[in-house]
Amino acid sequence: MIDLRKKEFSRDELIQLLNTPLDEAQELFDNALAIKKETLGDEVYFRGLLEFSNKCSKNCHYCGVRGGRKNLHRYEITDEDIRSAARFAVENDFASMIIQAGERTNKTFIDRITRALDIIMEESNNNMGITLSLGEQSEDVFRKWRDHGAARYLLRIESSNRELYEKIHPVDKLHAYEKRIKGLELLQKTGYQVGTGVMIGLPFQTVEDLADDLLFFKKMDIDMFGMGPYIEHEETPLYQYRHLLPPPEERFWMSIKMIAVLRLMVNDANMAATTAMQTIYPGGREKAMLAGANVIMPNLTPVKYREDYLLYENKPGLEQEKEDTVSYLEEIITGLGLKVGYGKKGDPLHFFNRNK
Ligand code: SAH
Ligand code: SF4
Repeated sequence: MIDLRKKEFSRDELIQLLNTPLDEAQELFDNALAIKKETLGDEVYFRGLLEFSNKCSKNCHYCGVRGGRKNLHRYEITDEDIRSAARFAVENDFASMIIQAGERTNKTFIDRITRALDIIMEESNNNMGITLSLGEQSEDVFRKWRDHGAARYLLRIESSNRELYEKIHPVDKLHAYEKRIKGLELLQKTGYQVGTGVMIGLPFQTVEDLADDLLFFKKMDIDMFGMGPYIEHEETPLYQYRHLLPPPEERFWMSIKMIAVLRLMVNDANMAATTAMQTIYPGGREKAMLAGANVIMPNLTPVKYREDYLLYENKPGLEQEKEDTVSYLEEIITGLGLKVGYGKKGDPLHFFNRNK
């Protein structure tokens, strides 16, 4: 029997925990939730999500908006739409937003993101915790965005196993594994609260890989996590391996176990209950919160853009859905015995502990 209250686990123990049969996993989930409450309280934080643009210069094999896809309308959100989303966030007492987009490194893009940050800061009286999720950038660009108010950055490692990484990405300079790692290091150097994560249930991925991902997170001293199941997309190269995928339910429950085990290892980090979990399993975000997740990202992207930002199939929210409204989310969160951290930025405690 593994002591669930210790923080250091061997690779073998992690594998054993991830292999816990579902009908024996309740104790794991309960301990993770208890640790989350003891360390961070019973609050869950909202981050208003803006899917800024689906233009992308990369070609990740799993992603529905990869640059190589020709039959997709490419958009960039307008300044006015950014302003209205920020206003909505302020009016609804969200103290955080996240800007996500395909990866681009040209000056026009960099300047537009800078302007988006300025707009949000202006609308919120400099009182918004902003996360960026815009891929790998140079140190100067990270600094520039930091100076314009971005405090957090999410850059998923996708898989910490280099061999697997190279199966799900083209092997070239633009997609180099080292460049991704370097990105995480630069983010720490430039003072961000740094987030990462992996996709769970990828073709070729083993439970040993996932255990190694958890050890990688710990070693990198990461502050925030966004993880979720891999969901196939027909118009991507990885789709040809769909016969290798575990069934959706299995991918979902493995994602929940990853959250729970990670919560045992890193008590004070922020962890998201992601949209992909909800897509693959109705009520998935609730299960994630009951296993220690403490962040939820309601989509504030205007509906007119959403059909063009489908990273994977069956992504919800093509209309403003009930599941993503503030009142609905508040109801489910309260129903779980948790509460919404209205008006609080909810910075990851891990960041402050790391910088002590
Ligand atoms: N371009 C940026 C941010 C947008 S993509 C970047 O790549 O970092 C954000 C995340 O979506 C990726 O990190 C990836 O983990 C996830 N994603 C992409 N395609 C997916 C799929 N088919 N299934 C599940 N998650 C996917
Ligand atoms: Fe572009 Fe990100 Fe999709 Fe890769 S995962 S193709 S970088 S949007």
